Amino acid sequence: MIQKPKGTYDLMPEETRKYRALENQLIKLLEIYGYGEIRTPIFEYSQVFHRESELSDMVLKETYNFKDKGNRDLTLRPEGTAGVIRSYVEQKLYADGGITKLYYLGPNFRYERPQKGRYRQFYQFGIEAIGAKSPSLDAEVIGLSYKIISSLGLKQVVVKINTLGDIESRLNYNKILRDYFIPHKEDLCENCQTRIDVNPMRILDCKIDGEKPVVKKAPKPMHHLTAEASKYFSDVLKYLDAMDVIYEIDDALVRGLDYYGHTVFEIEANIKGFGAQNILGGGGHYEKLVSEFGGPDVSGVGIAFGMERLMQAIEAENVEMPKDKPFDFYVLYFDEATKLAALTILSELRDLGYKGDIDHLDRKFATQLKSALKNNPNYLIIIGEEELNSNLYTLKNVKTEEQKTVDFDELVKKLGKKR
Ligand code: AMP
Repeated sequence: MIQKPKGTYDLMPEETRKYRALENQLIKLLEIYGYGEIRTPIFEYSQVFHRESELSDMVLKETYNFKDKGNRDLTLRPEGTAGVIRSYVEQKLYADGGITKLYYLGPNFRYERPQKGRYRQFYQFGIEAIGAKSPSLDAEVIGLSYKIISSLGLKQVVVKINTLGDIESRLNYNKILRDYFIPHKEDLCENCQTRIDVNPMRILDCKIDGEKPVVKKAPKPMHHLTAEASKYFSDVLKYLDAMDVIYEIDDALVRGLDYYGHTVFEIEANIKGFGAQNILGGGGHYEKLVSEFGGPDVSGVGIAFGMERLMQAIEAENVEMPKDKPFDFYVLYFDEATKLAALTILSELRDLGYKGDIDHLDRKFATQLKSALKNNPNYLIIIGEEELNSNLYTLKNVKTEEQKTVDFDELVKKLGKKR
């Protein structure tokens, strides 16, 4: 037996249905906020993710890289933002000078150690609002993230925000952080020891060192802001309050990727027994990403949610998801002649939008009946010789067991509202 690759999963119809319902709910909300869907390739030229400035561990070690037959270096996308920005620049979406609002939904691939809430193929949906450095746009994206969790009925999930400041603040802060960590080098993991020189801020969200007292006590970006960066952040907060968004400021929050500046945010589940992977989504404001891809010097702001973790939160909080509609009817027959009539009525009723099915195996009536009842239909339509000759149907209400001979019009009336 061939098994699925490590770190992947199969979604069966019952679960897929829940995901589809979740997706539909999200899309409805995103459309209200003026976002349009973008679909970029699942693989890109490797340099889309492996950029010069990109020092993140995720990008360097965790991507699926391969060569195609033309010897081109390609990578399965590990996240959504880079491909969207590549496309934004390639399609010159910046040409009108306005803000472009995009959302995406689809699989990403990372070679990580699989565990609950962490897979090698996982689904993300994300949004990007590109084209402006604007505290109110940052606030809108944070507000939308809050709206997403509140409209899903998640109560034990919080929006956490922080600021990393502008470039000047970050340069200054990185120096302060470097000086702080140098005497503690030995207390840090091997990766973080190199991060002291390269990008000390990343030590703060290291999976290994993040919880160590030495890291917890480190200086925070918020306390080393330029006046301008400080004003930017207080404007973000002012707009969030105007939009009635509930959030928490977390001065220790930094994001793993290096292109973020100013506002960063995470959506954290504090549900009992949820597990270690409790960050449902994360994002922030990026200043240099568009220009890195050859576009103009404009900022963007975005967030990506992990669909599996969002679903896990929905289940952990016992949020009702719409269930699949039951079968309206099942048709039962006796032989080849009644089967023909059964197929005709099946097809006519399906055309009208009723959900129904038939046993294709030519099994005995009793077996057909048993298997039909397993699917919990509202009605059984029985076609025997008598019905065949009279153009009538025997209709049985499964719940009340009431049975009646009806013509087509009455049958449709009985089945009730169409889909
Ligand atoms: P990131 O792009 O790393 O900021 O991730 C954004 C969100 O995607 C996270 O908060 C998770 O919800 C989800 N995510 C990231 N990596 C994985 C993974 N390997 N498996 C499942 N979900 C993931």
